[in-house]
Amino acid sequence: MNAFKGRPDRPGYPSGPSFKGDLYYDEPLASHTSWRVGGPAQRFYQPADRDDMVAFLGALPEHEPLFWLGLGTNLLVRDGGLPGTVICTLGRLKRMHRIDDLHIYVETGVPCARVARFCADQGLAGAEFLAGIPGTLGGALAMNAGAFGGETWRLVSEVETITRTGDAKLRKASQFTIGYRSVRGAAGEYFISAVLRLQPGEASVSRAKISLLLARRAATQPTHVPNCGSVFRNPQDDHAARLIEACGLKGHRIGAACVSEKHANFILNAGGATALDIETLIDYVRAEVETRQGVRLHPEVHIVGEKHSPWKVD
Ligand SMILES: Cc1cc2nc3c(=O)[nH]c(=O)nc-3n(C[C@H](O)[C@H](O)[C@H](O)COP(=O)(O)OP(=O)(O)OC[C@H]3O[C@@H](n4cnc5c(N)ncnc54)[C@H](O)[C@@H]3O)c2cc1C
Repeated sequence: MNAFKGRPDRPGYPSGPSFKGDLYYDEPLASHTSWRVGGPAQRFYQPADRDDMVAFLGALPEHEPLFWLGLGTNLLVRDGGLPGTVICTLGRLKRMHRIDDLHIYVETGVPCARVARFCADQGLAGAEFLAGIPGTLGGALAMNAGAFGGETWRLVSEVETITRTGDAKLRKASQFTIGYRSVRGAAGEYFISAVLRLQPGEASVSRAKISLLLARRAATQPTHVPNCGSVFRNPQDDHAARLIEACGLKGHRIGAACVSEKHANFILNAGGATALDIETLIDYVRAEVETRQGVRLHPEVHIVGEKHSPWKVD
């Protein structure tokens, strides 16, 4: 079955029965990001599975821009959207199973919370912190996401990556340089799956730990209003939230974007914000903290896309 939606709008673009995923045109990315803002993806591909992904990339025209999207929980997509093709892994690269006593195999479209629950149910310890990270495993690998003392790459034994042209490779964790919210190595490759190494544990203990972490998160973070988690990386030996609060910026608003009263490093979409509202507020907070505290903050969220669509949106 060829499940392609829309019309093939570019000569040489993969189409036909050999591709089993779903292709959409001008797909609104506001529906795929936790801030609920952002313009369209010019082309948006949801692969049927890993093998379909490999075949699709192998056939993609050479100069087509490519962007990988997980759950969009660390992304500010500008209002003009993303040209080229967005690959959406969520719910598509979804296989997860236990390999042996301590190892599991997980594809990168699996939400981190599911990985945490799976490990707990299997009596494997060490992945509990993932329960509080609202993205996919792919996003967590790209960001080295971490919480409550845990970090994604401390669990990784090896990953499967894929190049822009569909060449899949197995890479050991030791081939990457890992830091705070930073992962370097294998430039130009994307993550398809990972083998994670856990510790022996007990299901009831891991489940209790997960409940505790989620309760702590709910008490300290604005979980019911669209946001993107921490906007800025913490500077060495300090906290971005403390610096922002010290500038009196809690509650500061530009358009419908607003610095959270509950956690100063969170920016909320208070209802109907544009990506421009949010980006303008990010720039404002950054400038205020630099002027008043002498510290230059760096965004943790990835800001991508165009302010105005360079292609015609129907
Ligand atoms: C309420 C809230 C709380 C949060 N708390 C935390 C926290 O405690 N700790 C923390 O670290 N983060 C936190 N975050 C941020 C975010 O959840 C993490 O950064 C997460 O890992 C992003 O995953 P994602 O699937 O949403 O990635 P996306 O936002 O979709 O993408 C993020 C980046 O990863 C890249 N990417 C995605 N998938 C792949 C892939 N398969 N291969 C290569 N690159 C890929 C994208 O291109 C993009 O550059 C929070 C966010 C929210 C909304």
